[in-house]
Amino acid sequence: MDSPVTPSLDAASRTDPARRRFLKGLAAGLGSASLGGGVLAELAGPLLGPGSAPELPPDFEPEKGKVRRPYRGPCAILVRFGGGVRRRETIQDPQKTYSPYLLHELTPRGTLFTRMEIVTREGVVTSHGEGTLNILTGKYDRYEDVSHKLFGERFEAKVPTVFEYLRREYDVPEHQTLIINGEDRIGEEFYTFSNHHLFGVQYRSNVLSLYRFKTYLLRRQIREAKGPEEGLEEKRRKLHEMENQDPRVAQCGSQSPPMEAFWERWRDHYGETGLVNPRGDELLTELAVRALRELRPRLVMVNYNDCDYVHWGNLYHYTRGISIMDRGLQRLVEAVESDEEYRGRTVFAIVPDCGRDDNRCMAVPCQHHFGSKSSHEIFALFFGPGVPRGRNIDRTVQQIDAAPTVGRLMGFNTPWAESKTPLPEASA
Ligand SMILES: [Zn+2]
Repeated sequence: MDSPVTPSLDAASRTDPARRRFLKGLAAGLGSASLGGGVLAELAGPLLGPGSAPELPPDFEPEKGKVRRPYRGPCAILVRFGGGVRRRETIQDPQKTYSPYLLHELTPRGTLFTRMEIVTREGVVTSHGEGTLNILTGKYDRYEDVSHKLFGERFEAKVPTVFEYLRREYDVPEHQTLIINGEDRIGEEFYTFSNHHLFGVQYRSNVLSLYRFKTYLLRRQIREAKGPEEGLEEKRRKLHEMENQDPRVAQCGSQSPPMEAFWERWRDHYGETGLVNPRGDELLTELAVRALRELRPRLVMVNYNDCDYVHWGNLYHYTRGISIMDRGLQRLVEAVESDEEYRGRTVFAIVPDCGRDDNRCMAVPCQHHFGSKSSHEIFALFFGPGVPRGRNIDRTVQQIDAAPTVGRLMGFNTPWAESKTPLPEASA
């Protein structure tokens, strides 16, 4: 397969020497905005250091002898409305929104938190990987790339993700808990499970991405080789390299039969070239819609990201990215509503990973690495069974509140989340 792999947008914005100098100077001026404690930091207490384990909640049951129950709750679709979207172009002005479906069609159906934010605390940054893990774990943390690459985003969560909570409590197979990823963000393949000693890889979610499709193709080509085919060793080496990006899953073997069958059908439809299937966030929507139909997932996170092309310097990439996501959202909702099993039994949670900077002096508009106020300012919309309709909540809530709220709506607790209380307005 010869599909193009776009470089990481954030890495691109940071490695261009001229841009880096410009950003560095600007960061020096803004640096203090992202530091400091704030009321929430004081309330939350000190950050846990690397390797320190959180205290066990008193009512926590050990794994031994635990029987996982069948899951009968609603399906949940977490939409990361990213990468990096602030309020101004989405929910703030009905006349100037680039996401009219979200604002005009969906918000009347659910509860909109107009003032969700990312806490201002030392070590908590406003970016995609970090924001994704805030949403998935319910905890703000200081993350470092496990391969020690500057600006890398291979982060390992120390506390469980919502996927792990769900699968530890209920008998939901791995292929029914899915993260749908863009191709160029390989680091996000790491977000399927935490390093928590009571959870971890045995309760991980699976990933749908072109990266995973490529590993499927390599496995298939190796399996079907009829002799000492030219390039076989190279394919084995490549596959080994791709499957061992995350050494924590090296022992888990290859994909389950339902996942292999999913990619087989994808290959039948789109071929192997990678040139026919949709690209960017439209690809994510296509993967999600097919996954709903074929894998019947219970919990899905769709990690939209096209907005982040604004790192290359053109504001149009940002606003166009929002419009693409908005149409993707409409397709997802329509897919759910046209499916008898999902209709009326699916909860949506739509949350940006981070906001975007708002500084008119910037040569490159709408970055998100400087911790400016609007890069912390996001929103969240919940709708579906159990969520009150037509509510706009304007009190300040936290991005990490999403995880316990999803837990409440699906029927599991999130005891290691820093955010202890599900958003009460999002459940009837
Ligand atoms: Zn970015």
